[in-house]
Amino acid sequence: MENLSNIGVIKSLCERHGFSFSKSLGQNFLINPSVCPRMAELGGAKPGVGVIEIGAGFGVLTVELAKRADKVVVIEIDDSLFPVLNETLAGYDNIKLVHSDVMDVDLHALIREEFAGMEVCVCANLPYYVTSPIVMRLLEERLPVESVTVMVQKEAAQRLCAPMGSRQCGAVTAAVQYYSEPEVLFQVSRGSFFPAPNVDSAVIRLSIRKTPPVETADEAWFFKVVHAAFSQRRKTLPNPLSASLGIKKQLVIDALLSCGLTATARAEELSLHEFASLADKLLEARG
Ligand code: SAM
Repeated sequence: MENLSNIGVIKSLCERHGFSFSKSLGQNFLINPSVCPRMAELGGAKPGVGVIEIGAGFGVLTVELAKRADKVVVIEIDDSLFPVLNETLAGYDNIKLVHSDVMDVDLHALIREEFAGMEVCVCANLPYYVTSPIVMRLLEERLPVESVTVMVQKEAAQRLCAPMGSRQCGAVTAAVQYYSEPEVLFQVSRGSFFPAPNVDSAVIRLSIRKTPPVETADEAWFFKVVHAAFSQRRKTLPNPLSASLGIKKQLVIDALLSCGLTATARAEELSLHEFASLADKLLEARG
C-alpha cells in the first residue's frame, strides 16, 4: 500500500493520472502522517460504525477511516480524482465512492441505504470555500449522526466553537450550540498540506445533541431572531431587530427589558437561553 502522505507518491500519482490541483475546489491534501489517524480515532471510526467523508482527495483520510470503521462512504465532486482513487483505495472493500457535490446529496437517504443498523459519524477535511454551508446543512437536517468531526480553517474553528456571549460568536455559533456540543480538538499547521494553503487549520468535533439545550415556542422564529440580531453585530439590538423583524422599536425594547436585558445589549453578549426567551417575547410582540 502506497504512503499517501509522501510528497513523492503524491507527485507520481499526479503525473501518472495527469491530475492537477484545483484551488477553487479547496484541494489541499494532508501530508502530515500523524493527522489522519488521529482524526479517524477522535472522529469515532471504530467497529460497528459507518462514516461519511466529504472530499476524498487521494484518499489519505479515507483509508484511515476504512481501517477502523465498518464502512466508509466518501462523497467527491471532482471526477478527475476518480482514476487516482480507483488505484489508491483498491485494497479496501468497505469504501463506497459517490461522485457528487455534497450539497446535492440526499444525506438522509444515503444513511438509510448505506448504514442500516450502524451508528454513523461524519469525518472530513472540508473544502474551505464551502465550510459553513456544509456544517449548517449537516446540523439543520437533523441527520441521525453521532458526531461531525471536521478540519476547518483556524478562524472558522474559533467562530464555530466560540462560547455564546464572546466576541467571536455569530449566528452560526448559536446554531452550532443549539444542535451540538462543539470542541476544538487540535490545531494543524499549513505545512501539513500539499499544496500548502496560506492559512492554518484546526480539527473540531460537534457532538450532536439529542435535544436542544433551550426550549423555544417557534424554532424557525428563534433562528430568525438570532440572524436579525447578528446582522449588525456591533449595534445595540433594538435597531437591527426592529428593522429585520418588522416590530416597532419600543416593543423590541420592552421585550429586551422583560427578559432582564437592557436596551443597549448587543448580540454578542447574549446567551442561548437569553436568545430563546427574547425570541418568545418578540413572538408575542409580533402578535
Ligand atoms: N480528504 C483529502 C485530504 O484530507 O487530503 C482531501 C481534502 S481537500 C481539503 C477537499 C476535497 O473536497 C477535495 O478532494 C475536493 O475535490 C473535494 N470537494 C470540494 N468541493 C466539494 C463538494 N462541494 N462536494 C464534495 N467534495 C468536494
